[in-house]
Amino acid sequence: MLPPVLIVEDDTKLARIVKAYLEGADFRTVHASTVSEALQKAESELPLAAILDLGLPDGSGEELCQSFKELGDFPVIMLTAKSSEEERIAGFALGADDYMVKPASPRELVCRLKAVLKRYEHSSASPDSIVSFNDGTLVLNSLRHQISLNGYPVSVTPTEFKLLLILASSPGRTFTRDELVSRALGYQFEGYDRSIDAHIKNLRHKIEKDPRVPEYLKTVYGVGYLFAGERDAL
Ligand code: CA
Repeated sequence: MLPPVLIVEDDTKLARIVKAYLEGADFRTVHASTVSEALQKAESELPLAAILDLGLPDGSGEELCQSFKELGDFPVIMLTAKSSEEERIAGFALGADDYMVKPASPRELVCRLKAVLKRYEHSSASPDSIVSFNDGTLVLNSLRHQISLNGYPVSVTPTEFKLLLILASSPGRTFTRDELVSRALGYQFEGYDRSIDAHIKNLRHKIEKDPRVPEYLKTVYGVGYLFAGERDAL
């Protein structure tokens, strides 16, 4: 499982929009609305990247950006109302990897995030990108988009992989079909919620011992699906 993107924004409405777009682009997110909360979450989650509002209630985002840089090696995109060139240059001087001025396009933000992540991309798989379930029976490698079952690789389509990764990211949580459509297929497929059933059916044939009595991909009648595998602890 990839680490989440940390959204630091005290405007809850804006934070919600950013979150929706990032999750729509298959990022996990965590949100903090103050400097202290952001520091605490950055330490506990070691985020993939941070999107940082500069005007925060309990301190300056500029200082927070410096603290982030001391915490770990992850990109920071500053999102701010300040728009003068000097302030933008100051942002880069503090170690921001990119800078966007409000009002910003959430789609552009997602593109810029992907671009900075590409620049940061590590060549080898980190331990975080591999998750295993049920005593190593099912293993997902989110960096290589590979699934293995009992040690053997299982060939899945990119959509099937995405769908399984989303469900497996929160074992036991029920996902509605709509939610799965928007997160696995993207917003352009809104309304095609039955297509999820077809993908689940295919996945069951690939990973379940008996697809009619699924161990991993359970149907929640009238709602959607949940992943019932147990994440292995070391
Ligand atoms: Ca603010």
